[in-house]
Amino acid sequence: MRTRIATLFLLIFVSFAPSTIAQTKIPKPEEVLGFTPGDDRKLASWNQVVDYFEQLDRASDRVKFETLGQTSMNKPFVMATISSPANLARLDELKEIQDQLANPRTLGPLATRDRKAAELIRQGKTIVLITCGIHSTEVGSYLSSMLIAHRLASSTDADIQKILDNTIILLVPSLNPDGVDIVKNWYDKTLGTPFEGTDPPELYHKYTGHDNNRDWYAFTQVETQLTVDKIHNVWHPQIVHDIHQQGAFGSRLFLPPYMAPVEPNVPKPIVQAYTELGNFMAAEMRAKGFQGITTNSTYDAWTPARAYSHYHAGARMLSETASARIASPITLKFDELRSREGYDPQKESPQFGPVWRGGEWHLSDITKYMTTAAFLLLDHAAQNREQWLRRFYAVGKEAVRPRRPGELFGFLIEPGNNTQALLNILNRGGVVVEPPQPGFKIGNRELPEGTRLIRMDQPYAGFAKTLLEVQRYPNLRDAEGHPIAPYDVTAHTLPLLMGVVVHPVKAPFRFPRTTPEIVGVIRNPSPVKLAELPAIYRSSVPGNDEGWTRWIMDSKSIDYGVLTDKELRAGITIFKPSPSVTGKYYVILIPDQPARTLLEGYRSGAMPPEYTGGLGPEGVRHLRDFVETGGTLVFLNRASNFAIEQFKLPLRNVVAGLPRTDFYVPGSILRIELDTSHPIASGMPKETIAWAEDSPVFEVVDDPNATVPASNVRVIASYSAGKDPLLSGWLLGGDLIKGKAALVEVKMGKGRVILFGFRPQYRAQSLATYSLFFNALSSR
Ligand SMILES: [Zn+2]
Repeated sequence: MRTRIATLFLLIFVSFAPSTIAQTKIPKPEEVLGFTPGDDRKLASWNQVVDYFEQLDRASDRVKFETLGQTSMNKPFVMATISSPANLARLDELKEIQDQLANPRTLGPLATRDRKAAELIRQGKTIVLITCGIHSTEVGSYLSSMLIAHRLASSTDADIQKILDNTIILLVPSLNPDGVDIVKNWYDKTLGTPFEGTDPPELYHKYTGHDNNRDWYAFTQVETQLTVDKIHNVWHPQIVHDIHQQGAFGSRLFLPPYMAPVEPNVPKPIVQAYTELGNFMAAEMRAKGFQGITTNSTYDAWTPARAYSHYHAGARMLSETASARIASPITLKFDELRSREGYDPQKESPQFGPVWRGGEWHLSDITKYMTTAAFLLLDHAAQNREQWLRRFYAVGKEAVRPRRPGELFGFLIEPGNNTQALLNILNRGGVVVEPPQPGFKIGNRELPEGTRLIRMDQPYAGFAKTLLEVQRYPNLRDAEGHPIAPYDVTAHTLPLLMGVVVHPVKAPFRFPRTTPEIVGVIRNPSPVKLAELPAIYRSSVPGNDEGWTRWIMDSKSIDYGVLTDKELRAGITIFKPSPSVTGKYYVILIPDQPARTLLEGYRSGAMPPEYTGGLGPEGVRHLRDFVETGGTLVFLNRASNFAIEQFKLPLRNVVAGLPRTDFYVPGSILRIELDTSHPIASGMPKETIAWAEDSPVFEVVDDPNATVPASNVRVIASYSAGKDPLLSGWLLGGDLIKGKAALVEVKMGKGRVILFGFRPQYRAQSLATYSLFFNALSSR
């Protein structure tokens, strides 16, 4: 009897003592930061965040903290792995289980796979990746990461124990550590001034700004690469909780399901998973008294650029909590709340409720919504562990099954200038690339040496398929018949964007009758060697295209200068339009930005005076002088409207002001025809692509008020008069642009203006038109 009591006592001691001891020494965030995350007007620096997690790692046997690499600006990119000590002791074994369930072929003969899988599912854990802070002005999530980690590390509650026992939590406090400090520095600098709570007047990621979460298939940025290589591909998480903030005036919180359209290659079980989990979280939060929650609205599931996990057997659980002004509270009146796609925050509906009546909105409200949602997500992951793993296995099983006759067997990718870049993307996405079996022919033609095959019976074939095929975006309309805007863009066909020849093949080894329409490849790409130093204009209002442009130049080690509003307003001594003029630059690039933003910048009073005013009339005058004395000015996409208006060019944007019902192209791949006798199009195929997104379309006009005659305009690219301009994505009113110009050169004085009616270096993806871009910067 005494022995039994002693044993019992010992068991109790063993099972409870570690938690009790741990609880007493686990540091709270405020003990390290000096404030509680969520306190008004308080932001943590990246050093403080890292310091907190390091202290947590030292104090807790539930937390393993590591640096995965360095960011674009050389800060540590970090992750905390959080689970029970027992699970943390067998991480390698748990990774192995994930690998096997992800690729059921590794489980041996078909007949016994399900049985082996069932055994692995019994032993495995739900893998939950929580990513915070990719958008750095959305400060709630990186602050919440410390609250989430602290509770997981310190709590003795039964529900937390269940989470720790049944899940592995991979917590990334920020996907963009550089931005944490960019925003904090600006916020602290403007605190207590009229500009408190404004967004910083610079991109919060060195190159991509807000576009940093549009990189989940192009993988251009080091932060994307680290996340994919060292987290996604190592762990294959079943759930990826991506914590964001939205504007201040809509719902208090968005949770999945996503609104239509869902990209057709997202597996149905993944759609079921985010629907079930999102609805569970919303229902539980409503039951706890949270208000203003929307589901099935605003955010769609179309582009893989934002959803790596959907093509890798994981559910992306986006959450979007309403913002304050960075860390400063705001007060909202009920009638200030504004509708967004799919709901009206002033009315209850199946997509929205219960109504939030307005009032004060603090950073602590944001962190409360975020942490509550995150723990509900973890509860679901823990309580339904087997179901999550079964579904994960089912997705893998469907992916690897042999393709039946008539089904898509795979894609053949011909060698070409950008083929390796395309294959690198597929490789990084976990897609196996192999040489084709002998006997494949294209028509009567033997396959060129170096052709590669992507089979569809492999775990991540869906990722390859969505990137290799043509997108047909559905023609979605609201109740009044207006087109419903996609949340991001509508096309991501890499063979078109990169100018690579790809052929789909049907099982068993047959070519389908109709192949996706693929335009020509670049046969003789001009080497990138610029004659002289170009300058990139940087508006005081940060623009993503300017950042992408710098990334492309840096990644190719091309030197360039940067010109600001202030410098362009000050004048001409920086320009070098001709040998007789002393100065620095002979070509200036104006990246894609609205014409009005270029001209006016921030309005007076919105930001400190040194950031307001844009190019202004002085800047316009100096740019015109630069051209007239021999310089080259290159305008990209919307910036071309600025040139037409300010220089009074003999051009008209034929789609300006048209309602969406008449003309709409929200990020699509169009077909253009080139005049290859022009130096800018030299070496290009006759037909290529144009990335069109809020793009102008040009018509040459005889305008007596224009500064130069129409004969000074040379059309370099135009939309075909006879063919459908749309290659991939969505286009309404395509007939309106047939035969119109997409790229023109206008002689003005001794110099020239080059207007792109598209984005030739779109998000560092449209390699097919890089030659046009670089030739515009270098040919004279
Ligand atoms: Zn965001």
